Amino acid sequence: TAPRRAWTDLVRDVPDFPKPGIRFKDITPALADPQGLAQVVEALIAPWHGAGVQAVVGIEARGFILGAAMAQALGAGFVAMRKPGKLPARTLSQSYGLEYGKDCLEVHEDALPAGTRVVIVDDVLATGGTLGAALALCARLRLDVQGIGVLIELEALAGRARLPAQVRIETALRV
Ligand code: IMP
Repeated sequence: TAPRRAWTDLVRDVPDFPKPGIRFKDITPALADPQGLAQVVEALIAPWHGAGVQAVVGIEARGFILGAAMAQALGAGFVAMRKPGKLPARTLSQSYGLEYGKDCLEVHEDALPAGTRVVIVDDVLATGGTLGAALALCARLRLDVQGIGVLIELEALAGRARLPAQVRIETALRV
């Protein structure tokens, strides 16, 4: 029998995206593969079994795909953190510096009750700016953040060092 292909072999590097000089980690081939998708979700949820996670907070856009699958597997709900102007009701906004520019994340101000146990998820941890903003929004909602789950950590960009040391960060693949 053929050896089982690991999801990590289905992640590809795309040079010069979205700007010249950036090597973009593209997880779409891993998501397109049935075993790859199952492995990705399993790797993301494994650290959080027994953590009492009540909701997964996913960051636009790949955090939506991963987060919704995680939430269902963990028996939790899902909350979206979105780019500005996308959420219909009243929002909280948090701006942040990004690896390739400046951006802003928003969440519904009534998304979850204070004290809800959540895990934040995104596909890639690069400089940590995005997840820093997500943590700030969770703090403003007074959520009980169990930690952060990320599929790929780009260690050279040292994003982990920019995030608060007490926050648990689980990354499935470090490159
Ligand atoms: P950071 O804010 O610099 O940590 O960048 C993380 C955000 O940018 C995440 O939302 C990622 O989806 C996206 N990102 C940065 N680099 C990559 C990459 O190489 N592949 C896919 N997404 C990336």
